[in-house]
Amino acid sequence: MLQTIRIREKLLGKNDELAAHNRERLDTAGVFAVSLCGSPGSGKTTLLERVIPALRLKFRIGVIEGDVETDRDGRRVAALDVAVTQLVTGGACHLDAKMVGLALDNLPVPLHDLDLLFIENVGNLVCPAAYALGENARVVVLSLTEGEDKPLKYPAMFRKTDSLVINKLDLVPYVPVDLQEMEAAAHVVHPGLPVFRVSCTTGEGIEPWIDWLMERRACWKK
Ligand code: MG
Ligand code: ZN
Repeated sequence: MLQTIRIREKLLGKNDELAAHNRERLDTAGVFAVSLCGSPGSGKTTLLERVIPALRLKFRIGVIEGDVETDRDGRRVAALDVAVTQLVTGGACHLDAKMVGLALDNLPVPLHDLDLLFIENVGNLVCPAAYALGENARVVVLSLTEGEDKPLKYPAMFRKTDSLVINKLDLVPYVPVDLQEMEAAAHVVHPGLPVFRVSCTTGEGIEPWIDWLMERRACWKK
């Protein structure tokens, strides 16, 4: 006798339901949500620190920060004078739609008082790819110090993103990396993926990515 329970599929099915519910709540509130994935240290929080001061002149911004432990990133982003909820997963290596729903319930301001919501996932190139959160756009931040082959080694993450930000352009003189090869690897797993080379430290290359984000938002509003 054999009993098989496909737990993963069941859980992901439930996650998709909850993600659709989050999306509905966000749409109803008129909030465009962008999730950020990437390895620990790739520069997800630094990207937020770079773009939020410009974006907050036009938009009311909220941020959900996901980390295994500490509210360090939450405090960094809250210092930019935006509404932040820090999710401390206490071990879980990714955010899921249920956690994001909980964060939506516990934002420091009502959801309908926001225009733009960033969701920074736990640093991880593996399982966050499998969990829809209800976001309208997904972004992967890849630091050029991580090596050209990461898109090939973690294809799901790069397949499921809407844009790729290659960060730490300021380190090019010190790192033996071939950015063309890195982009080509991303395009092997995701043909046509928009790629942006930026330095979140100096601000180089950030404008085109903000333009991309604004275009996505404009399409969503139609
Ligand atoms: Mg971070
Ligand atoms: Zn995980």
